[in-house]
Amino acid sequence: MFKQAKAKTPESYNAKVHYYGMGIQIDKCIGCARCVEACKEENGVPKEPFFFRTWVERYIIKKDGETIVQNVSLKNGDQDPTEKDILRSFFVPKLCNQCDNPPCVQVCPVGATFKTDDGVVLIDDKRCIGCRYCVQACPYGARYIHPEKQTADKCTFCYHRITKGLLPACVEVCPTQARIFGDVKSTASPLTRFKRMNKIFMLKPSLNTEPKVMYSNLDGEVR
Ligand code: SF4
Ligand code: SF4
Repeated sequence: MFKQAKAKTPESYNAKVHYYGMGIQIDKCIGCARCVEACKEENGVPKEPFFFRTWVERYIIKKDGETIVQNVSLKNGDQDPTEKDILRSFFVPKLCNQCDNPPCVQVCPVGATFKTDDGVVLIDDKRCIGCRYCVQACPYGARYIHPEKQTADKCTFCYHRITKGLLPACVEVCPTQARIFGDVKSTASPLTRFKRMNKIFMLKPSLNTEPKVMYSNLDGEVR
């Protein structure tokens, strides 16, 4: 209960009856990065293009077999291969996977990072000592140290919004509905429908982190 209270949820909110996840439809993402900008605005992520709670990668698979991965917010067009050298390219939005078995929680020496009853991994700013153990332990590069707060920071699925029945900011602004947010405990949830209608892939499944961010149409080259 202590940790749930720290997450500042509304009085009426019952975390035990929810379990959240996100679906990402790769074939719908157009790489516009509106999700990245909305997330920064909503969550006080520094504007410099090195800090992200969510980011979008462009994968370029070349005809010679080389794979180039660019963060669309950092993209330097000078290094783009010419169209005739490209076999295929696509965008992959990434964020904290809200792992069911999160290595970041296991390594935190002060219990500042924890999993809520509704399956979201959060950070208690007041406890975090900025030691970076969790940043190193996350196999998805989903955490950074906030330069002003000097504490670890990462996606929370916009916990302050979802516990009020709102969508995460990235989901709300996506113009193509590439991102789907939902509650896997609800049969009527868009996420439950997404899981039923698609073959689902997770990132780095062999690590046994049990991600709750699920992809459809994920190319085998994505890592
Ligand atoms: S993706 Fe990284 S930061 Fe997020 S829960 Fe998993 S290990 Fe922790
Ligand atoms: S807002 Fe939607 S379409 Fe645009 S980059 Fe993000 S996920 Fe892709």
